[in-house]
Amino acid sequence: MITSKFRNTWIEIDLDTIGYNIKQIRTKLHEKTNIIAVVKANAYGHGSIQVAKKALQSGASALAVAMLEEALVLRKAEISAPILVLGWVQPEYAKIAAEQDITLTFFQKEWLEQVNFKSLMKPLKLHMKWDTGMGRIGIRTEEELNEVIFKLRQMEKIHLTGIYTHFSTADEQGTDFFLKQNERFNQLLQAFQKKWPDSVSIHTGNSAAAIRFPEKMHHYIRFGISLYGQYPSKWMKSMQFISLKQAFSLHSTLVHVKKVKAGETIGYGNTYMLKQDGWVGTVPIGYGDGWNRKLQGFPVLIEGKRMPIIGRICMDQMMVLLDQAYPLETKVTLIGSQYKQMIGTEEVAEYLDTIPYEVTCMINERIPRFYR
Ligand code: PLP
Repeated sequence: MITSKFRNTWIEIDLDTIGYNIKQIRTKLHEKTNIIAVVKANAYGHGSIQVAKKALQSGASALAVAMLEEALVLRKAEISAPILVLGWVQPEYAKIAAEQDITLTFFQKEWLEQVNFKSLMKPLKLHMKWDTGMGRIGIRTEEELNEVIFKLRQMEKIHLTGIYTHFSTADEQGTDFFLKQNERFNQLLQAFQKKWPDSVSIHTGNSAAAIRFPEKMHHYIRFGISLYGQYPSKWMKSMQFISLKQAFSLHSTLVHVKKVKAGETIGYGNTYMLKQDGWVGTVPIGYGDGWNRKLQGFPVLIEGKRMPIIGRICMDQMMVLLDQAYPLETKVTLIGSQYKQMIGTEEVAEYLDTIPYEVTCMINERIPRFYR
């Protein structure tokens, strides 16, 4: 990972907005429902250590990541809060999880069989995942559930501390499938509670479900995208269920400004030709930083005005068509606001035909993050 702070391109993360977004969801939730801050994929590109610390200070009581490696990064940063790994981890690494008090997700009888219990120096905490319709990972039937419970009973040094599921359509206007998944979860829960009387933590909702159906949430919500101030979908934004503030902004500066004559071309493949004499600026960011080549034609902000990216985006640089000459090192905002103009992650996502989640994740470690 490059941690250079010398380059003219940087990300600003406004940590106060993380606290603000937690407060906003807190006002909706039942007082007994707690918040797991989802900080996988380097906190959706925002920086997992800084976001995790801020989220915990602001009222989250646990963290979730996708991989054991991501959990270990947090432990190394002396974060002692409960951490749940949401993805499948090879059973041979259960020992590391137990040593570091990291909770793993499991859903397969075979997985339990492969954990080497003798090697566990400390108890291993597990959450059991149920697939109620997402079709990704988890137990789907009561039969599987019974098999796993049977196996669990024979295991020492294993603490089943939670059960959970994940919704696939909670951000969509139609609620039929969401309700169907919720119903399947409740059916499995009834079957589970008959066989497993010990208390466990129950959690079902992501940002979308927690915002829309706070009364259906159990002990925890898993709060991801909206922790960062983004709405789970365009439709949810339009419904104003909650007020959120975006934490992420991306900036650079002009490193070269020149007058170009009509008829001259810009960039690889000569894909852009100036129709009249104009000013062209060069900005040091490119697809090597995760700034996708498909963003050719998309605007950036300079002095609060929108100016288009012209020619193909290179690996480390790109060009923009300026409305006038600007001094070197004039600030260029790619995501964020300048004066009254704003380019949000939603707008970038729409141009790329993707979702805001992907936008902040795609901007890679080559760009330093600064926190305020
Ligand atoms: N729970 C699980 C299992 C997930 O995979 C995710 C994200 O993909 C989340 C929770 C958080 O979802 P969101 O970012 O929509 O809040």
